[in-house]
Amino acid sequence: MDCRETKNYLKEKRRMCDTKKYCNECPFYDVEGMDCFGSSAAKPINAKEAIATVQKWSDENPRKTYAQDFFEKFPEAKPDKEGVPRMCRANCYGGSCQHSPVSEVSRVPCKACWNEEMKAADDE
Ligand SMILES: [Zn+2]
Repeated sequence: MDCRETKNYLKEKRRMCDTKKYCNECPFYDVEGMDCFGSSAAKPINAKEAIATVQKWSDENPRKTYAQDFFEKFPEAKPDKEGVPRMCRANCYGGSCQHSPVSEVSRVPCKACWNEEMKAADDE
């Protein structure tokens, strides 16, 4: 996710804040000259640094992938050698897969489709 886009920045910033129980766990808390954005009075002084901070957190804390969600729901399912379910994601979550829309011809590239970030249902 590219946090230089304001829309993404705000979304990821909110997601980051939601995962922190206490403000002192927040990366913003440690950045000099910044205060937690959970406080309405606080504004990041340096926008560039604020974006970089959120970008870093976003990269380190990706949203859940489809594969992660699948194995949470079906813990007994056996992953294939790529660590993803033995079918194309598009066949059980919908969406599109560039690699094998329906067929099982080329299984390996479906690693990529399983490892995409899940689209949150309550997003936006
Ligand atoms: Zn696929």
